[in-house]
Amino acid sequence: MRVLVTGGAGYIGSVVTAQLLAAGHEVVVVDDLSTGHQDAVPPGAVFHELSTASLDPVLGSWAIDAVIHFAARSLVGESITEPSAYWRNNVSGTLALLDSMRAHGVGSIVFSSSAATYGQAVEQPIREDAPARPTSAYGRSKLAVDMALTDYATAYGIGAVSLRYFNVAGALRTPSGGYGERHTTETHLIPNALRAVDGGPPLQLFGADYPTDDGTCVRDYIHVVDLGDAHLRALGVVEPAAHHVVNLGSGAGYSVRQVLTAVGEVTGEEVPVIEAPRRPGDPPVLVASNAAAAQLLGWRPERDLNRMVADAWEFHRFGRAAG
Ligand code: UDP
Repeated sequence: MRVLVTGGAGYIGSVVTAQLLAAGHEVVVVDDLSTGHQDAVPPGAVFHELSTASLDPVLGSWAIDAVIHFAARSLVGESITEPSAYWRNNVSGTLALLDSMRAHGVGSIVFSSSAATYGQAVEQPIREDAPARPTSAYGRSKLAVDMALTDYATAYGIGAVSLRYFNVAGALRTPSGGYGERHTTETHLIPNALRAVDGGPPLQLFGADYPTDDGTCVRDYIHVVDLGDAHLRALGVVEPAAHHVVNLGSGAGYSVRQVLTAVGEVTGEEVPVIEAPRRPGDPPVLVASNAAAAQLLGWRPERDLNRMVADAWEFHRFGRAAG
């Protein structure tokens, strides 16, 4: 299959591009490099430095069978102070992509949606039919696209699968480096904890007074290789005129303190920690039901927390080089 990957120079997009190539697919990557890195695009993919909104003049000449759409702004805090960037990139950019797909007869899309569409869900683990009450412009932008996909499937026959990510971690290791997390603005727990172990600033632990077993927030962490595997499976179940929404989670979670313990075990160093106030907007627990993923995709995550931390640590120390 010839797959267009938008955002293929980013963290998850580069991992999935490498997995698609390894599975024998042809891949065309577009990325405007606003947050991605060109050297993260796996060799073997055709790369075009383009934004999603400017694909129309060229999409028709690429003979694309399916699109996996990662390109987006993805910082929750920034989305609250700069909503325009989120509505423009994530919503207008995706609508432009969908209209180009229609114009050029590309009928299948797998979309990176998010747990942020649910907001502060009352019932855990979260099922796909839980009420969607996003609390940020980021979450609302992802939900808006999910709603558009349903309408485009009904009216225009597009086939779509929205994959709702919870917490993604780890890296895809390759003999010459690998593909992992390289955000300029890093907000995520595991890379920040690894940086703290490696001589960076101490890890700020945002809130130790939550109503959880150890007082810290619980999240559903998935290894990026498992997450990528779900995308390849999703490509195989896309069907015309249907839009499936699927959570990618394990059904269980780890607390911030459990993550920090795993980082200590893997690196052999205790993580330097400063206890800090709660980070605004963090719900105590976010865990996904994985029943729909098991049923529709036959997918279940296989790699545990220590493996995520170990691969992220290897990538932190030896990554960067693509190959
Ligand atoms: N967290 C933390 N210190 C950090 C980064 C994150 O204590 O430097 C906490 C955060 O408050 C949340 C959990 O770790 O409870 C996971 O946060 P992350 O940003 O990795 O993912 P999110 O769940 O916000 O998508």
